Amino acid sequence: MGTVHPFTKTILSTSEDLIIVLDDTGKILNKNNAWKKMKQTNEYTLLMTENSSFIDLLESTHNYEQLDSIQKVLRGEIDEFQQEFTGSVEENHYCYLFRIYKLRLSSNRIGAIIIYSVYKKHAVANSEVTSILESMTDAFFSVDKHWNVTYINEYGKTLLSNVHPSFNYSNSESPSLIETEFYPFLQQVMLEKKTQQQEIYIPSIPTWFEVKAYPRAEGGLSVFFHHIAERKNIEKDLRSFAYYDFLTNLPNRRMTYDILQNKIKNDDPFSFFYIELNGFKLINDMYGHARGDALLVDIANFFNQIIQVDKVVARVGGDEFAIFTDEVNKEQLSIIANKLIQEFQQTSESMSVPSIPLSLCIGISRYPEDAPDTDLLFRYANLAMYASKKRNDKNFSFFERSMIVELERNVNIENELHGDLKETSIHFVVQPQFNSITNAVIGIEVLTRWIHPKYGYITPPEFIEIADNSGRIEELTKYLISEVFSKVARWIRDYGFDKPVAINITPKLLGNRKFFNDLIHFIQYYRIPPQMIDIEITENANLNTDQSILDNIAFCRKHGIRLSLDDFGTGYSKLADLVDFQIDKLKIDKYFVDKIGKETNAELILHTFMNLAKGLKCDVLAEGVETKEQVDYLNSLGLTYFQGYYFSKPISLDEFEQSYLQSN
Ligand code: C2E
Ligand code: CA
Ligand code: CA
Repeated sequence: MGTVHPFTKTILSTSEDLIIVLDDTGKILNKNNAWKKMKQTNEYTLLMTENSSFIDLLESTHNYEQLDSIQKVLRGEIDEFQQEFTGSVEENHYCYLFRIYKLRLSSNRIGAIIIYSVYKKHAVANSEVTSILESMTDAFFSVDKHWNVTYINEYGKTLLSNVHPSFNYSNSESPSLIETEFYPFLQQVMLEKKTQQQEIYIPSIPTWFEVKAYPRAEGGLSVFFHHIAERKNIEKDLRSFAYYDFLTNLPNRRMTYDILQNKIKNDDPFSFFYIELNGFKLINDMYGHARGDALLVDIANFFNQIIQVDKVVARVGGDEFAIFTDEVNKEQLSIIANKLIQEFQQTSESMSVPSIPLSLCIGISRYPEDAPDTDLLFRYANLAMYASKKRNDKNFSFFERSMIVELERNVNIENELHGDLKETSIHFVVQPQFNSITNAVIGIEVLTRWIHPKYGYITPPEFIEIADNSGRIEELTKYLISEVFSKVARWIRDYGFDKPVAINITPKLLGNRKFFNDLIHFIQYYRIPPQMIDIEITENANLNTDQSILDNIAFCRKHGIRLSLDDFGTGYSKLADLVDFQIDKLKIDKYFVDKIGKETNAELILHTFMNLAKGLKCDVLAEGVETKEQVDYLNSLGLTYFQGYYFSKPISLDEFEQSYLQSN
């Protein structure tokens, strides 16, 4: 069994699920006993011998979805993946859950464990009829003469729960069927005892169904039905196909425009909600598009359920939805927005994946108050949506004129960043870091400053974000490097300066190999020892999703560059991913330092950080230290490295030279 751990072995031999263990190349290391107990064999089981390549096998059977997930796990891009599949062996239809998890085989080898949990689609009946009903593309259910549902296939369940969210097929007492739009037609068939077919429109979805009902000899009905939304629309109006979103069946962006246009023509006041989903992109990237699509359908259902008849919901972009309502009173609109956000919070847990929270972010524009036409109403609601993304107090904002001013400011800042940086008033300062016991400088951090002739002091987080989003962060950071490194090179020559110089690298830049190649050229050109370069990365960089980030960190380590974890304690990335890299320094965020003497909880956390650092064998530095009390407390925990106003504010490079290099 090679390198498989004994514990894993036990699980393997006792599980009813079909399990195989793969090594880092995708070869089968082991398959468990459950495979031997399988009654039927199929093409897989015959070919699956130990030491054969499972990857080749999946390739030869064109099973690309599973293949793709296995390769991702083995490459370390994802830790796990699961999906339901259907299959058939000798005319038996079954459904199985495919799961794959990362498995550490030895210290540096990653393999995978794959679990197939097989189950028949329906445990209720085992007749051949069941498998026919289940494999049909039509939805199907049957009722007895008292309207009790006696059978319903999976597709039927899905469709009926769309038609009627509270539809309950498992409870035979449930009068749910009677509440659906199908009922009048079905009642007629039941009475007339004659097979009939009808097209029925369900306004809440809104979709057309073709429904066929067959009266049964013993009383009751067999009912087959399916969507004819698209067909119906094409029949009605050839263009209308382009008006519905294929995935969710919601009106699309074009339809939204048309409806709004119409309202404006009639001069009906209304409000427009622009809604974006925080967290969706991450799930889509990490778990694949199939998972993302399923999530969007869930979300469309959620909106349909909580939106009443006086409002319309539409999908206007990838993860963007819109709702419009005739309500224009701000108080009432706030109530609606709050309700959406809160109910979503409760519902979304069941839709999402663990550790990735989903939330709504809403911007609202109103007609005719905010703008006279559809285009502007869209843009303004969008602006308001971005404004609420930035604020922490609530997740929705009304459009305000000041947002246009802000937009203009952002555009101007962005334009300047795209020009020659030497022509801007951007410059650089350094903040020294100290050992509180010896009072010696142990390093410096470079920070960017921009005092703008028109806007005054622009905070670094503001322009860094704009630079990052507009693709200029690489140029800006290289500008910093060229300005600062030339001075540092002189300090090395003139004063024997040998302390680490820290530069901040945004998560986006961290994934950019070209930048790191250039960084190496710079340090070689200026002859700065690589161990004097300290790159600060923030803990919430997408370390675990982006392989290029991990590769670049490894690249820096290989060249001897130092690595600091900035703002430690505030992110939620997996620290485990970094352990392999031997971090040099944890920088404890100011947030925790500020709590000293105020919150015992935070003090406890500081303790934990110290232990963690000991375990990781790295240095710890406290950031944003402003008082002696903070220094004393941290000293008592054994922390002696500091950066903060108590020791020194950020100062110009010349000032640093005068105060800390010339005087020594
Ligand atoms: P950071 O990397 O955590 O940098 C430390 C920030 O805390 C600096 O703010 C510094 O001035 C401030 N600070 C240090 N000691 C104290 C203190 O005792 N009290 C208080 N209240 N503040 C203190 P700054 O320069 O405004 O920068 C803010 C953030 O902007 C930085 O946080 C960093 O994330 C980013 N940033 C600044 N310059 C650059 C840059 O050149 N590149 C990148 N990527 N990010 C930068
Ligand atoms: Ca920093
Ligand atoms: Ca920091």
